[in-house]
Amino acid sequence: MKKWSEIRVPELNGVDEAPITEILVAVGDEVSVGDNLITVETEKATIEIAASCSGMVNKITAKVGDIVAEGDFLIRIDSNDDVKQVNVKITPGDQVEDLRTQIVVLGSGPGGYSAAFRAADLRKKVILVERYNNLGGVCLNAGCIPSKSLLHAAKVISETKEMHDIGLKYSSLEMDNEALRAWKNKVIYKLTNGLATLAKKRNVKILTGEGKFLSLHHLEVKTSDNKSISIEFDQAIIATGSEPVEIPDFPHEDPRVFTSTEALEVNSIPNRLLIVGGGIIGLEMATVYHELGSKVTVAEFADSLIPGADQDLVKPLYQRIENLYENIFVSSKVVSLEATLNGMFVTFDGPIVQKKDVFNQVLIAIGREPNSKYIGAEQVGIKVDDKGFITTDNQMRTNVANIFAVGDIVGQPMLAHKAAHEGKVAAEVIAGMDSHFDSSIIPSVAYTNPEIAWVGMTETRAKELNIRYEKGTFPWAASGRALSLERKEGITKTLYDPETKKIIGAGIVGVNAGDLISEAALAIKKGCTASEIGELVHPHPTLSETIGFSAEVYEKTIVDMYLN
Ligand code: FAD
Repeated sequence: MKKWSEIRVPELNGVDEAPITEILVAVGDEVSVGDNLITVETEKATIEIAASCSGMVNKITAKVGDIVAEGDFLIRIDSNDDVKQVNVKITPGDQVEDLRTQIVVLGSGPGGYSAAFRAADLRKKVILVERYNNLGGVCLNAGCIPSKSLLHAAKVISETKEMHDIGLKYSSLEMDNEALRAWKNKVIYKLTNGLATLAKKRNVKILTGEGKFLSLHHLEVKTSDNKSISIEFDQAIIATGSEPVEIPDFPHEDPRVFTSTEALEVNSIPNRLLIVGGGIIGLEMATVYHELGSKVTVAEFADSLIPGADQDLVKPLYQRIENLYENIFVSSKVVSLEATLNGMFVTFDGPIVQKKDVFNQVLIAIGREPNSKYIGAEQVGIKVDDKGFITTDNQMRTNVANIFAVGDIVGQPMLAHKAAHEGKVAAEVIAGMDSHFDSSIIPSVAYTNPEIAWVGMTETRAKELNIRYEKGTFPWAASGRALSLERKEGITKTLYDPETKKIIGAGIVGVNAGDLISEAALAIKKGCTASEIGELVHPHPTLSETIGFSAEVYEKTIVDMYLN
């Protein structure tokens, strides 16, 4: 009788899930007992899964990049043999043998890993120190990536609701929190493990533990098993990022008070959720939790949402969410928060009728502060300002010649793409290149619904600095693409230097504004004039046309609108 063997994922050396990095056989291949079939890479080890019998590969259900867990079915082998236990070979992961290096990078977020990888590509010997097991920092583990994954889910939910009005009716939403969380974690896992693979390929040594400077050439790393390792280095790049700001005297230890990190776990969907802070992170989480079913209240201390952004761009977002959320309070402060058996009791100060209320959950999203306290920077002479930021020049050099700093730790804007670019600059400068970081053209995006994005000079800033500007504004109500998406509330505006007619800034509100803003960023970088932007042939019908149209409005050459 024909026998067959199912090859499944073995115990993963203490890890729950891991990605498949290699599949060494194809359907139809003949294999012998012990032949390697599949390689799985965990942070601790490379695990080779081998054939447990000889025969022909009949079926492969996995592919490279899949995240697998113990017991997952991988391959079926048709065989005439007796089936044995699956063979597994485990090779321990890289150990750091040599604790003398040219460059040590502290922190593996976008700033740190970009610096480490660029330095390694420039033939420097690099050790990357990270306190957590996963690489990628806040961005990959508790920031950009999980939030955008959940925002994608939120967008799908909101679009299916909107389809109702144009005749496409779906039955009501059935939420499976666990599946949503597992999917989001899978996205994170793919990226963080991808970083581990990229580090390995570049020979960047990873040391897991908490780093602290002992001197300007020595870093001490405390590992989770309480070992202390000292690294001697020529140069260091500090990229320890930031953490959420807490409000003194608020019961932060209560599980009903959370930060964005816990909110991104979507462990439960509270009935009434208060979000303290109407900035980008607070409003992105509001977008997610509203669509997942919470009644959302946002309380913002400043007199507008997303303080600092041009308010004509914020208005379409405000108009959309004021009907969807339970309440939006501006110029309002949460003055007390009390944990009781019946919920979280909140007292507001501001132009609010009902000054006391009770919520099931409270998200504190009032900003982030730099992680500079526990790294011994000041003790060894690295300058840290009174807000905890490390000051650098535009080559990312601190006040100490061999120490560099990048990312959230050096100040606003706290954005991943800024951190990554700064990281590359630091690595290049250390390698002898004349690189500089240009902080004038960093796009900002709120991935709300609609999205808001801006780059370069804003009207708000130009007014504060008394900078003269002129602008072209294109309302999306005149865009064929926006109308076909049923999203005509958007605006694209471009700002120009009145003398040179060169673009100096741009702002967009509307679906996919975050993807659209890069064209304006490039135009600013390249010093394009309004007529050059208008002359560029944009594909029709797309939202990208709105950038060209805004330039044409400014030039008064537009035909898709009638200007008085
Ligand atoms: P981090 O990513 O914070 O990484 C620092 C790393 O250093 C961490 O891994 C930390 O564990 C490690 N570390 C700290 N101290 C030590 C130590 N002593 N020893 C060893 N390791 C240490 N930005 C965007 O551009 N786009 C977005 O869409 C976006 N969305 C966000 C959503 C949320 C909810 C949040 C919270 C942030 C978001 N951000 C976004 C901001 C972005 O995540 C940060 O700007 C970015 O991660 C900063 O990168 P970094 O390398 O400076 O630091």
